[in-house]
Amino acid sequence: MTTSTRIVLASRPHGAPTAENFRTETAELRPPGEGEVLLETLDLSLDPYMRGMMDDADSYTAPIEIGQTMVGGTVSRVLESRDPSYEPGVLVLGYAGWQTHSVEPAKRLTPIRDTGLPASTALGVLGMPGFTAWAGLENIGKPQPGETVVVAAATGPVGSMVGQIARLRGARAVGIAGGTEKVAHLHELGFDAAINHRADDFEDQLAAATPDGIDVYFENVGGKVWDAVLPRLNTYARVPVCGLVANYNSTSLPDGPDRSQALLGRILKRSLTVRGFIQNEFAATQTDAFLTEIAPLVADGSIRYREDVTDGLDNAVAAFAGMLEGRNFGKAVVHIAD
Ligand code: NDP
Repeated sequence: MTTSTRIVLASRPHGAPTAENFRTETAELRPPGEGEVLLETLDLSLDPYMRGMMDDADSYTAPIEIGQTMVGGTVSRVLESRDPSYEPGVLVLGYAGWQTHSVEPAKRLTPIRDTGLPASTALGVLGMPGFTAWAGLENIGKPQPGETVVVAAATGPVGSMVGQIARLRGARAVGIAGGTEKVAHLHELGFDAAINHRADDFEDQLAAATPDGIDVYFENVGGKVWDAVLPRLNTYARVPVCGLVANYNSTSLPDGPDRSQALLGRILKRSLTVRGFIQNEFAATQTDAFLTEIAPLVADGSIRYREDVTDGLDNAVAAFAGMLEGRNFGKAVVHIAD
């Protein structure tokens, strides 16, 4: 018998998640059945979408139930296999969630390609977040040479990829991040301009960094960044709406007045394209194209990435809460086993 330590949802948060919303449990796992494998989790991805799944709210996916193991992308090692596709010892990408071991159907797993890079990159730069950036730009943002692309949460796995792809397409990349250290990192990544959204003169800095307006705003955060960006969007600008992390812990709408009519007016008068998307929409048909283009560029260092690794499942809750407040610096990963 294998014992799994897991973190389950104990209660639904009101606002920012706290330790009381989670509970650690242990469970004896049954042996894998036909077509299943026993996995040991090595790395767990922490992603902002998990906060939405803690609420019992209408969304693009069902909420996590109370008592259910927290969900999440994982890199795992196969310990035992009752499926011919996987030998013990191989590394797989899966969705085992916040737990040390699990029994999974083999058909829900993907072998990790040998890129010469650490396996954890399958959770970030070469995984779901990197693909999200690529798919949002390819299908919606469509940056053209000389255009200005703006993205916030720009040192994270989605935003840093948005900026670097924008530059590959010949566009100007303007990154927005929280704090001077993150802003300095954006310059190292090759962003043409970088702005601190915590600065008092944030709006003036944005105006100075976008003298020709904004052609593509890759929306990761919402909140006051969106308020500052909206008046600067050019005619025919495209806005892939990817995430609204500034609002994920909100418990009410912002104070009035209701600005929805002004927003619609701006969309009309500037002929804006504002298009939400969830990356799954494109994953089945476009992941190969993403990896074909981007994996070699990551391998040769042309595209750079940064991971923020937390050691131990015990520290996952604090790391997750911190990520939602910007305390992560790079792709948030929990390292669970070597
Ligand atoms: P990050 O690792 O970048 O973490 C979130 C970051 O958001 C924080 O580090 C912080 O960065 C920033 N942030 C938090 N609060 C605020 C705020 N009030 N104002 C401005 N920035 C804030 O996350 P990811 O790269 O994984 O994800 C980025 C976005 O993409 C999220 O909204 C996520 O939900 C979305 N997403 C959407 C997908 C889809 O299919 N549509 C798939 C994957 C991700 P800083 O300190 O720089 O402010």
